[in-house]
Order: sequence, then structure tokens, then C-alpha cells
Amino acid sequence: MPNRRALIGAIAAGLLVTALPLAARAQEKLPVVASFSILGDFVREVGGDRVSVTTLVGANGDAHVYSPTPADAKAMAAAKLIVVNGLKFEGWMTRLIKSSGAKAAVATATTGITPLKGEADHDAKAGHGHDHDVDPHAWQNAANAKVYVANIRDALVKADPAGRAAYEANATRYLADLDAVDGEVKAAVARIPADRRKAITSHDAFGYFVKAYGIQFIAPQGVSTEAEASAKDVARIIRQVKAEKVPAVFLENVTNPRLVEQIAKESGAKIGGRIYSDALSDATGPAGTYIAMMKHNISEIEKALAAGPA
Ligand SMILES: [Zn+2]
Repeated sequence: MPNRRALIGAIAAGLLVTALPLAARAQEKLPVVASFSILGDFVREVGGDRVSVTTLVGANGDAHVYSPTPADAKAMAAAKLIVVNGLKFEGWMTRLIKSSGAKAAVATATTGITPLKGEADHDAKAGHGHDHDVDPHAWQNAANAKVYVANIRDALVKADPAGRAAYEANATRYLADLDAVDGEVKAAVARIPADRRKAITSHDAFGYFVKAYGIQFIAPQGVSTEAEASAKDVARIIRQVKAEKVPAVFLENVTNPRLVEQIAKESGAKIGGRIYSDALSDATGPAGTYIAMMKHNISEIEKALAAGPA
């Protein structure tokens, strides 16, 4: 017979270790939850090996419409910091924060960014209760990504003051990388003839990209993927593609390709490849990080728009 008393003692000791607060275990990483993959990448860049990041909406996932899982709620409850995009991108996060009993600080990464307008009228017509009067896709401008990173750095310092030097050094290095990619996108756009700087995507995810870099994107679907494009909107876009000789349509990683394939077929525009709007690819794909995503997107855009018809 094993010694019953020793056994109980061992179990109690085990419980005691797992119940110790995180701060008491010096080498423990700061648990951070990010609502979607692009934020998760920013937190990893700034947090480095001091943080352990859980991303709720993963690679190629659509964060406009998402149903949280029990595992998500568990990660939220254990988090010391929760990072969200804001601008009404992930409305389900507000409910999840409440229902999970999360105690962590919530950092809104877009704080300080002037939002672009969405399409309030469009949704009112569709009879939706949802409010998409602001465009949430601010990360599509690398200058805005720098604001995200500064906000994340400050939130990490607040949640883990002992890591200040590391967070500041990581952020400084990464902010320089973002400046470099911003310059690369601008240089690529400059190589595209001015009258060919226009394209089609499924949903209106590139408003900030349009404003920052001067490529016009037209989309049959609004700033959220929740509402379907109407037949009327699709017909209008097909007419516009023909009239303005829009060179290419792009598939998005988070939306069904059917709609833009139909537009390409009926308008004669070519399909310019797949670009990443609202989520990264998995690590083995072409857009496993934010910087890889921006480089991949502009490379696909330049390839499709720079050359005239053969
Ligand atoms: Zn979107």
C-alpha cells in the first residue's frame, strides 16, 4: 500500500504549484490574447520571448464574423493583456470579454488613428442591425501599423513593467522595419502607370491602402463581410470595370472567390492573384507575418497592374 498521507501531501503540493500567481514564477511568460492574426504578429514582434500570445481568429480567418470557442474564453480568463483592433471590427470581443470573466487590461490598437468612414447607408438598406459606419481595416496602411505597434508597446510596458527595456528595443527595431516596408509599397506604386492604378476586390478592405498609396480599389461588398453584395452592386461594378478599363480583380484570402471570379468573367478583367486583407496566411504561406503580407500584396498588385495588355 502506498503511504496515503504522503500521497495526499504530494497532491496538495502539486496543487500549490499550479495555484501560485504568475508573478511568483519569474520565468513565466506574460499571457496575451490578440483578437486576430495581424495583431498577434505585432504582439509577438514587440513582446519577443517575454510573452505567450494566443490569437483567437487565426490564419485566413474572417474576424468580422466569428463564433468564439470555449478554449477562447479560457485563454481570455487567463490573459494579463487583451489586444483588440477596435473600430467595430470584432464586435464579438466585447461579449467575449464579459462572458469569459476576463480581468485583463484591454488595449485598443487603433487608438489615435483617425478612422475612415464606412458605409452606414449600405447596411441600413440591407436591413442590418449592424453598424459599419467606420472602416476598421486601418492596418492596411503601414504608417497606421506603427500606431498599432506603439500602442501595443505601451500596453505591454504597463502590464509587465519589468520588461520595459525589451519591449522598447523590440518596438524600435520593428518600427524601422515598418518604415522600410512603407517605402517599398510607395516605390512599387510609383512604377505602375497612373491610369492603371485601380483594381477590384470582394469586400471593401483596402480603404486605408487606397488613401495612403493611391491605388483605387472597388468592391461589391462593404467594409464588413456580413452583408452580401446585391446583384445591382455587382452589375454596376461590371459596367465600371469595362468603362474604366480596370485591369485586374484580386481574390482575397478571407472571402469566397465566386463573386470576383464572376466579375472577371463578365467584364474581361484578368484575375490578378490572391491578396491578404483581414488575416495572415499560415506560417508556410506567402503572408505569415504582417511584413510578408504587405510585401506579397504589393508584389501581386504590381505584377497585375504594371504591365499593359499583351
Ligand atoms: Zn474586412
